[in-house]
Amino acid sequence: MLPGIKLFDLSGRAAIITGGSKGLGQAMAAGLASAGADVLLISRNAEEGQAVAKEIADAFGHRALAMAADVTSPDACQAVAQRALDEFGKIDILINNAGINIRGPIDELTYEQFQEVERTNVDGVWLMAKAVVPPMKSAKYGRIINMASTLGVVGLANRTPYASSKGAVVQMTRALALELAPFGITCNAICPGPFLTPMNKPIEHDEQTKKSIVGAVALERWGQMQEIQGAAILLASDASSYMIGSLVTVDGGWTAR
Ligand code: NAD
Repeated sequence: MLPGIKLFDLSGRAAIITGGSKGLGQAMAAGLASAGADVLLISRNAEEGQAVAKEIADAFGHRALAMAADVTSPDACQAVAQRALDEFGKIDILINNAGINIRGPIDELTYEQFQEVERTNVDGVWLMAKAVVPPMKSAKYGRIINMASTLGVVGLANRTPYASSKGAVVQMTRALALELAPFGITCNAICPGPFLTPMNKPIEHDEQTKKSIVGAVALERWGQMQEIQGAAILLASDASSYMIGSLVTVDGGWTAR
């Protein structure tokens, strides 16, 4: 008999989730733990990460740890990988989720703001992948999941830094997927549509958001936190073993138009 639902079982797997202290990262970390994985949550704020890790450990009975680190620092990314190896003895899964968004018309944004978004959303993803690839290659197994966005494949006004960064994540995912496939490591991306996380709280009530973001999705509503969990479990598990460089859209129909 074919394995069926067992393909989604993450028992005994060890995962790193960057930006795991809130929003989509928290939801995906809980999703992986619910399927059996031990998780290491990375965020800039140690206390926030620890509180969420405790909630996850209490809820699912697997190990959930937190560590403060800035993914724009090469040394910090290496330290994250080392911590996971020290605690779990291996790294099966990396969810490259940490990200920021600075919005505005190009003539009002500064170059520093543009660079800040690229450093976190592009350099951070590259640096964390670089840190986990050596142990994954040694183990001949790995799952790298990059959080891109609908704005990695379609445009939106006043989002030049963010859309540029997510387009780069899409292409990085494809290139890395081809590079790592011979080593038993898959690399895929999730392209979420609008979810009402702390990132989007500042624009929740503005009229332009209602029209151009929530109004752009076929379901005409924000995504709910549990709606990101399925894609994360799929790409983290053996169920996605034939998925290489895929973009999984979870966007309520935004990019179906
Ligand atoms: P969020 O702002 O709610 O959470 C982001 C997390 O990333 C936080 O835990 C924060 O501490 C962490 N982080 C930011 N910069 C960091 C750094 N330099 N080092 C370490 N951690 C850092 O964001 P979210 O809405 O949950 O988004 C998560 C990911 O999903 C991001 O990559 C975002 O671009 C992407 N995404 C979100 C949406 C959405 O609608 N919310 C849509 C598409 C894509």
